[in-house]
Parts: sequence; C-alpha cells; structure tokens
Amino acid sequence: MTAYLIRNVSVVGAAPTDLLIRDGVVAATGAGLTAPDATVLDATGLVALPGLVDLHTHLREPGREDAETVESGSRAAALGGYTAVCAMANTSPVADTAGVVEQVWRLGREAGLVDVQPIGAVTVGLAGERLAELGAMADSAARVRIFSDDGHCVADPKLMRRALEYVKAFDGVVAQHAEEPRLTEGAQMHEGEVSTRLGLTGWPAVAEEAIIARDVLLAEHVGSRLHICHVSTAGSVEVLRHAKARGVKVTAEVTPHHLLLTDEKAASYDPVYKVNPPLRTASDVAALRAALAEGVIDIVATDHAPHAVEDKECEWAYARPGMLGLETALSIALDVLGPQWDLIAERMSRAPARIAGLDGHGLDPAPGVPANLTLVDPAARRVVEPAELASRSRNTPYARMTLPGRIVATFLRGEPTVLDGKAVK
Ligand SMILES: [Zn+2]
Repeated sequence: MTAYLIRNVSVVGAAPTDLLIRDGVVAATGAGLTAPDATVLDATGLVALPGLVDLHTHLREPGREDAETVESGSRAAALGGYTAVCAMANTSPVADTAGVVEQVWRLGREAGLVDVQPIGAVTVGLAGERLAELGAMADSAARVRIFSDDGHCVADPKLMRRALEYVKAFDGVVAQHAEEPRLTEGAQMHEGEVSTRLGLTGWPAVAEEAIIARDVLLAEHVGSRLHICHVSTAGSVEVLRHAKARGVKVTAEVTPHHLLLTDEKAASYDPVYKVNPPLRTASDVAALRAALAEGVIDIVATDHAPHAVEDKECEWAYARPGMLGLETALSIALDVLGPQWDLIAERMSRAPARIAGLDGHGLDPAPGVPANLTLVDPAARRVVEPAELASRSRNTPYARMTLPGRIVATFLRGEPTVLDGKAVK
C-alpha cells in the first residue's frame, strides 16, 4: 500500500494542514508532517471533505448494462467525489432477493471504486402486491438496511405499514418514492401554469404531499425509520417540518436538479428535462433550498438515472424519466449553497452515511479514521461535456453549462480512485 502525504489542505474549510494517509487510514494530521516513503500531493487551495455518500443511485446492472454498469457507475461516482453509493432496486431482475442484492454487492467489490451498498425492493418485482424477502436480504452478505420500490410508490398503506414494522427489527429504513399513483396517471410534467400552457398532463404537488403525510403518520404509529426520496415541493417541506417537530423518525433527500432547475425547462420539449418527480416551480426550488440549509431536508441525493440514447432522445411523451447526477452533484451543491463546507459535508456525506448505516463513511478526516475522502478545488470552473462523462449514458441536464468546483482526487480506504481529476482505473 502506498502512503500519501497531502500537503496544505483545508479539511472541511478549516485552516490548511497536512494529512498523512497510510494503511487505509488517516495516520496523522498537522502542519509540517514528514514521511519519506509517501507520495506527496500539493493540495494548496484544495478542500478535503469526507468521501461523499449517495443514498440514491441507479446503476442499471443487472439488466440494462447498455445504460450503466456497476463499474461505470462506480467510476462516475468516484469522479464525483463519492466513496459510497446506495444502488436502487429497480434493476432487471429486480433486487428483491438475497441472490440479486449479493450479485450487485459483489460487482461493486470487484469494481473497487466506491462501496456499493444495494437497496432491496420492498415488494416482489416492485409490483406493490406482496412484501419481498426483506429479512433474507438483510441477512445476506450485502447486509441490506434500506428498502425501496423507487420508481414506484408503495401505494398500499397496509403493505407500507408491514414493511415499516418488518425493518424495525434490524434498524432498517423504508425509502419511499412518494407518488399517489391515481393522481399522476398519464402525467408528463409538473401540474401548473406551464403544463397548462404546453397542454401536457400534470403531476400535481399534492400527489407527493399526500403520500408523505400518510407515511409520516404510519412511521409514527409503528415507531420505525422512514426516508423520503427526492422531495420536490414546498408543501412536502411543510409536512416534513410538522413530522420532525412531532419527533417522527423521518429523513428526507433532495436532488441537485430539484435545487437548480424549474418546470420552465419543459417548454423546450427536450426530454433531458423529463424526470420523476418532475421539475417544479421557482417557489418550490426556493423552499427546497431553505429546507436543506435548515435541516428539514437532511441530505442531497443524486437520483442518478442513466438512460440509453433510444430511451431518452425521442418524443417527450415516450422518453424515460431521469437524469445523470453523480459527476455534477458537488458542483451543483457548491453553486446552490456556496462554500459552506461543513454544511456540504453534513448533507452529502455524514448524514447519508448515518441514514444508510455505512461504517467507515461520513467521517471527517482525522487520525485513525478510514481514509475515505475527496479533494475539491473550489476555485476551478468546468464546462460539462456529456461526451467526457464516465457514465455510459449522456442524459445530463447540465450539458455545456459552466459549473463551479472540480474533484481533484478521491481516496477509498487510502487508495486513490481519482487523481488529478482522472479515474485511476
Ligand atoms: Zn424515485
């Protein structure tokens, strides 16, 4: 194992210091460290963050390896500053058995670029009819703790209640894609002024808010942990605020795109802006930003959703919903939050690691801590070129935008996965 001496780095925004990484851990910190055997990296002007953790990634393997593989998605994640990602269950076959979650977990280990933590489906085949083998997935080598039918809502309240009861035994969490399906039949975009103008069927905010309201009450009743995926409306923020004030064990995420883009983008009819839940209004965006700063929303999660060209570059009505996110998330967070490094570390690393129960992740670089960290150049600006992304897909909504910040290096247990802004393998 190579040792690395990172010189003159600002750890989570603090005054510059040196970091020595050896044998997979942070061996020492402090000014003027020496280590003759170590590779020296001059990190003047760079900020070290605990390696980012994504609670919501679609890796598409097994089943749609043309859109993404565990390996290509892992590489995209490392380039985005991530050291761990939670892989959603809507693969083909669905990750609803110990066998499939162990397969994804093993592929992640083989790629060795980030820790890939599989999420298990709540219901068999994501069909919303009967519970999947939650216990078997929890007991498997993948040690699944997060369960989600993401892409679909667990709409049946009885099933949702039983899932919440079941995961309580092993301190698991149910991550809900909050969408009352009867209220979003045929929906193409956010229901509002723009959808009326364009003549597209709307996805009303209340379809999200009604499910969150129901589920926080169920979680309170059962005493279980609930997580809400991709919160997108101002009304959802108010429901969460109320639930948290009551002491409900609920956490929530927001995506980078819901923090930056609005439903006006749909007027272009460019399907790259089609996503579920849809882009909302400017006042929703403002409420989401405030909720993230305040902590009503706990984390930023990417909902990285790669799609093959034929599934995305077609008519709006036929395009699959979803956007890439892993390689641009830190830049969007920096754009939205500014250089509030402690807040960024909390929302993109510490809190998601806690929710997912990932040991060794989400810890600020300090002596004895596993060396899972990323180095950011906050002064750099980059133009997003889809062709240069490591993802197998190209559906980024930020194409040719200039974004702040650049990931210079990422370390997974002391081994670099990214150096000088490039993937090591
Ligand atoms: Zn979803």
